[in-house]
Amino acid sequence: MYIKEVASSLYPWDLADEGVATCVDNVVEHSLVNSVYLVGIMHKEKRPLTNLYYTHNPKRKFYLPEDSRIYYRMDEKNFANTPLKPLYSQRDFLQGKDWLDELTTYGRKRNLKTGAEISHTFFDCEVAKKEFPDVLQKNIHGDIIERHFCCNNDHVKEYMKAIFYDTVKNHDVDFVQTCMMLFAIGEPVKAPWFMENDPENKVGAVLGVLKGGCFCHHCREKAIKLGYDWDKIVSDLKQLEQMVYATAYNNLDSVMDNHVLMGSDLLETGLLLENPSLYQFLEFRMKSIAALFKEIHVSVKSANPNVDFRYNNYLRYPELAGLDFAAVKDYLDSVRDSDYSEQTGALDKFKRKRNTLLKIRRGIGYDKPLIAALAPRPNATPELIRESIKVLSTLGVDGLSLGHYDGATFELLDAVKQGMLEAGIEILR
Ligand SMILES: [Zn+2]
Repeated sequence: MYIKEVASSLYPWDLADEGVATCVDNVVEHSLVNSVYLVGIMHKEKRPLTNLYYTHNPKRKFYLPEDSRIYYRMDEKNFANTPLKPLYSQRDFLQGKDWLDELTTYGRKRNLKTGAEISHTFFDCEVAKKEFPDVLQKNIHGDIIERHFCCNNDHVKEYMKAIFYDTVKNHDVDFVQTCMMLFAIGEPVKAPWFMENDPENKVGAVLGVLKGGCFCHHCREKAIKLGYDWDKIVSDLKQLEQMVYATAYNNLDSVMDNHVLMGSDLLETGLLLENPSLYQFLEFRMKSIAALFKEIHVSVKSANPNVDFRYNNYLRYPELAGLDFAAVKDYLDSVRDSDYSEQTGALDKFKRKRNTLLKIRRGIGYDKPLIAALAPRPNATPELIRESIKVLSTLGVDGLSLGHYDGATFELLDAVKQGMLEAGIEILR
């Protein structure tokens, strides 16, 4: 089969420590990469994520980045409509350089596709809590949900649009990718401790959103504008939430209702038929995300019509975050799915990977590029990487994407090339 792209992410500190040319040359030579992108806005997360130490960084053993800094220059003029302004790195070895330009300049020399990723969070959460608490999502009790910004807040939406616009307008990229967190999905509800918990219980997953977001006043205003009876929805969901999280100590009256629900095999259908307010809440979130993607898409295209807006899906059930791929298909140019099950031994024989890719495909249709991630990280093996690529070759994907070079071994990077050969995958030139 033919694919269009083999992509690799690179972090600014990888480029600073190993050298731009070394990083790019390595992924091109070992994994046939023809597309490189900078993780240009990155949340705080220990790197490398899935192993203790770096596998090939000559300068440091691990790295702890600042929260949600931007590693390339932005034009402040684009942020006139929002109080949120870009925050840059204060670290000496990263300051004063436009790492996106560094990467794209070398990438173009090697005839590669180039891109930028805006990762899970795009603004420092501690700064937001202190200076702009209004921009963060609120749970059903009105408390702040950490790291989740509300896209129904116009200041947030304007900031997001400005970031995308600026990235595309002022940099030489073919795509701008994001795995930004959408509505908080809460935590799946589990059966009580003395009963068997089914980790695949989808009713539990849906009910988890009751601990998620968003219930802020911006959401309320938008929902009412769309014709929803928001106050009734919230009142119904509060009742449901109390039952779902009932214990003998906080809500004795509802404990039995909770236990029989979580021990039953009620389908999501039954749950939603009984709780129209839950359905309306989920539908409102879906409409909110579709509206957000539409506006971002317009921003990207107004900066450069040839640049792709790519969503990088990282959830097993993105619909719980408000993302319905069918509802946003007109506003996305391509999708990456970041399933990294290789790094945990793919114990499910790639079931999640297969299910998620097909779910996205049915949403976006057959024409838009779908890029499948894989993880050449130390907990994977060369055999598993090759097997994964063989599975992917049967799923109609348009590209592969490595996650991530910083923790990859050369043995595993080589397995990508070998796996493509064995699976009969060729890159369309
Ligand atoms: Zn909100």
